[in-house]
Amino acid sequence: MTDNNYANQCIICNVTSCAHHNKNRNYCSLEAIRVGTHEPNPTVPPCTDCQSFTPSCSVPADSMV
Ligand code: SF4
Repeated sequence: MTDNNYANQCIICNVTSCAHHNKNRNYCSLEAIRVGTHEPNPTVPPCTDCQSFTPSCSVPADSMV
């Protein structure tokens, strides 16, 4: 279980729908995250993704479209 009280001050984040987000401070509560891309040739910030993102309320995979 994630300890959301921890704030990793090296990872500023405002994705409040993530289970790892520290709700009281805009930081990630993980020690480290994985960042990747969904593009073959990333050129701007929106090309990148936090691949450690976890929905704060899980949705069964077979219910997703
Ligand atoms: S795992 Fe990624 S999206 Fe989630 S709080 Fe940490 S940095 Fe933000």
